[in-house]
Amino acid sequence: MIAMTATPRSTYKPLPRIGKSGQAQRRLSPGRRQYLRFKAKYSDALLLFRMGDFYECFDEDARTLARLLDVALTTRDIGGGAKSPLAGIPYHALDNYIGRLIGAGLKVAIAEQIGDKPGPEGVVERSVVRVVTPGTVLDDGLLEQQKHNYLAASVIHNDIAGLAWIDASTSEFAATEMPCHMLMGELERLNPAEILTDARSRGIIRDYTDENMHPNTGQPLDGAVIRDVDDSTLDSELAAETLMRHFGTNGLDLFEMEECPAAVMAAVTVLDYLAETQMGRLPFISTLRRHRRDKHMHISTSVLRDLEVLESTVPGGPSLLSVLDRTKTPMGARLLRTWLTAPLLELNELSMRQLAVAGLHADSFLRSALAEALSKIPDLPRVVNRIALRTAGPRDLRSLWSGIEALPRVRSSLEETDHREVLSRLFSGMGLHTEVRELIDRAIVEDPPGRVGDGETLKTGFDAELDEIRSTAKDARAGIASIEHRVKESSGIKSLKVGYNRVFGYYIEVSRSNLHLVPSEFQRRQTLTNAERFITPELKELESRVLLAADRIAYLEQEIFRRICDQIAVHASSMMRTASILALMDVCVSLAIVAEECEWTLPFVDEGDSLDIEEGRHPVVEAALGPGKFVPNSLFTSNSKSQLLIITGPNMSGKSTYIRQSAILVIMAQIGSFVPAKEARIGLIDRIFTRIGITDEIAAGRSTFMVEMVETASILNQATPRSLAILDEIGRGTSTYDGLAIAKSVAEFIHESPSLGCKTLFATHYHEMTILADTLPRADNLRVAVAEQGDRISFLYRIVPGGADRSYGVHVARLAGMPNPVVERARSLLSELESAHLEYATPSRIEPPDHLQLDLFQPNNPSETLKYLAEADTDNMSPIEALNMLYKLQNTARKELEA
Ligand code: ADP
Repeated sequence: MIAMTATPRSTYKPLPRIGKSGQAQRRLSPGRRQYLRFKAKYSDALLLFRMGDFYECFDEDARTLARLLDVALTTRDIGGGAKSPLAGIPYHALDNYIGRLIGAGLKVAIAEQIGDKPGPEGVVERSVVRVVTPGTVLDDGLLEQQKHNYLAASVIHNDIAGLAWIDASTSEFAATEMPCHMLMGELERLNPAEILTDARSRGIIRDYTDENMHPNTGQPLDGAVIRDVDDSTLDSELAAETLMRHFGTNGLDLFEMEECPAAVMAAVTVLDYLAETQMGRLPFISTLRRHRRDKHMHISTSVLRDLEVLESTVPGGPSLLSVLDRTKTPMGARLLRTWLTAPLLELNELSMRQLAVAGLHADSFLRSALAEALSKIPDLPRVVNRIALRTAGPRDLRSLWSGIEALPRVRSSLEETDHREVLSRLFSGMGLHTEVRELIDRAIVEDPPGRVGDGETLKTGFDAELDEIRSTAKDARAGIASIEHRVKESSGIKSLKVGYNRVFGYYIEVSRSNLHLVPSEFQRRQTLTNAERFITPELKELESRVLLAADRIAYLEQEIFRRICDQIAVHASSMMRTASILALMDVCVSLAIVAEECEWTLPFVDEGDSLDIEEGRHPVVEAALGPGKFVPNSLFTSNSKSQLLIITGPNMSGKSTYIRQSAILVIMAQIGSFVPAKEARIGLIDRIFTRIGITDEIAAGRSTFMVEMVETASILNQATPRSLAILDEIGRGTSTYDGLAIAKSVAEFIHESPSLGCKTLFATHYHEMTILADTLPRADNLRVAVAEQGDRISFLYRIVPGGADRSYGVHVARLAGMPNPVVERARSLLSELESAHLEYATPSRIEPPDHLQLDLFQPNNPSETLKYLAEADTDNMSPIEALNMLYKLQNTARKELEA
């Protein structure tokens, strides 16, 4: 859910007030004047003002800092007898604290000292070097590896909402357009850290947030910072020009954006904000992708949550993502997450993915070779971006080197496999970047420090001048070391030591008892309690040589390192391409690994209107239960037959698992993954809806009836014949009759709604619902099989045709450990009630539906298999259809051989 965090506004009040005459200003200290100048420019940011070893905040900012970081709040003279609140943080802890400040939704401007001598203002010169905000943060330590960190912008133009988003750390940049009412759904799916809005989109977000405020806390659920954009700066023509200028193109056709002014305006809003916060140094952004919503399944955050796609509802529990994720690189992990939030609706791309995953699945040698190579590859897009922005450190270069080192192995493995044709199509364009690798290898030491200057970064032999100065410094240090020995000999002071400290530099220390032996050329420097420290002209001379050399070395290392980064940055574009191919490969390898381990099958995906799953399993529940424990179940539903499946059975018998597993298999199939089923045929689903009857809303004071109706109506408004709806225990949070009435009317409505045909799985513990199948032609009953022994029951987790004829609630109470007298009393009450309401009891219709009848691919039916093969229209088959057919034949052949 999008949260509204109030845009931090300038609240500071300069002290003392500056009069028109400027009298007060003249009384301010020069530092204060400089501070106020910056603050005026960055009035909406918290200004961290570097003063020596600290970043200081003044005025209101000081109070904010003290409150958020729990640091001391003091005061400071600011001239003219006035004082300002003051709070600060040590410079070396900046990264740590910045995370907390932007986590609180703040924009943070950092003013650094850029010299050590007073400038024209009478104080050390300073400059705001960067502005950090939640959506533009680039520091590795502040970003989650597995997740994108998006900055989004939304602009409404001619009643169309344009949405653009960027992950500044990886340069993924995309934009799309949509009708305004869809904006919130898209924003929720993206889950940006920061959103820039024009006035109208701001209004849409505000209305939505007001309506969806959390009932208990009144707080937004997930904090995205929202900032207003000045509408007067938005202009569609200007935006198009800016975008073309940025990419150096003559038109927008390259990005398929010619007809998308709102998206273009949003994209430019994103770029402008980035440029503003990065002080003009944009990250490396080479392209803008048009996100085509019609090519992706629409899947809302609530669906992702209900189906536990990205996260479990139990903290730390498994999710679909955690089951699928065997990726080795951060960019692979991020891509898999992105795929899961936008499964494909387009068969061509999907079949490419399926072919790649199937190829990798079939070649275990290739799979493990690639997995091993990928595990050596760093977060390439982020490393390349840091190099392009010149914020990379020596270790970034070394990790880039080790990633590039792994690439020849990747390429040769791909060339050696029998599946090279298929795979090379998807993974073509990956460079080897030999030049970059060689450069880093020649230049950077193997185990460099994190920052240039914190130890030796550059190898000997890379730069002649650096080598020479290093050797001068070495000689001078050796000279200093030799002084100690020599002077000890000549003076006879055995305890004499040559030492160094930061304030006085090099010195010769002589203990008090030996002072009478000190030679005359020794000059006194410092007096300690038990010793005196001296220098000599020779020591002084060597010291200045060491210091000069150290200065020069520091300068040269910085310069050379910068030059190396410049040289590497030239290859940024091709390295980014390699990074995206590696991410794709990583996800495909991951899907192949898990498919092999869990014994999944490649689904057959087409544009038909049915879902036909044979012996499907819920991947997450199965993983949690352990091998062999999960009971597989089949499913058939289509627009014309079994469109509405009513699944009845006692609580805890496996209904939810069954209906969710169907939706999860659809998602898996449409990202290109194998699925846990014996066989699956999936007609593309354009949208999944879930409606889970929970009691949360009661806390919000809305009646359950209303909530269920409103939400189900919204499903019905948006569903198409290609959609799949999962309705679980609708009507549960109310009395039996109300609940039953809601459940029945919703089911009837879905079935009868002429525009719909949306495939619907409806799980309910109201066995009375089964009566619907008698009157609704496209409704069928399924129930969960229950084994009864006397008055005890056990769940078989098997879905069978027909409806449950009673609720088993009392039995479940026993299973749950209710005391016996309570169970017995409930049982007698129940029989009274049942005899009073016989009209609800319906006989179950037990007839085997088509999907449970034997299909072509049963073992021991070789003639059918051959017939299938003979009749197959191979001329008109897509590659994926051919592959699917091959899989089926292989499976059957294996079974026949086993039989
Ligand atoms: P219901 O929706 O009927 O209340 P659930 O689907 O929540 O029941 O299932 C309850 C529990 O039963 C699950 O947490 C799981 O442990 C187990 N379960 C469900 N389906 C199966 C299955 N097909 N095979 C094995 N165990 C299952």
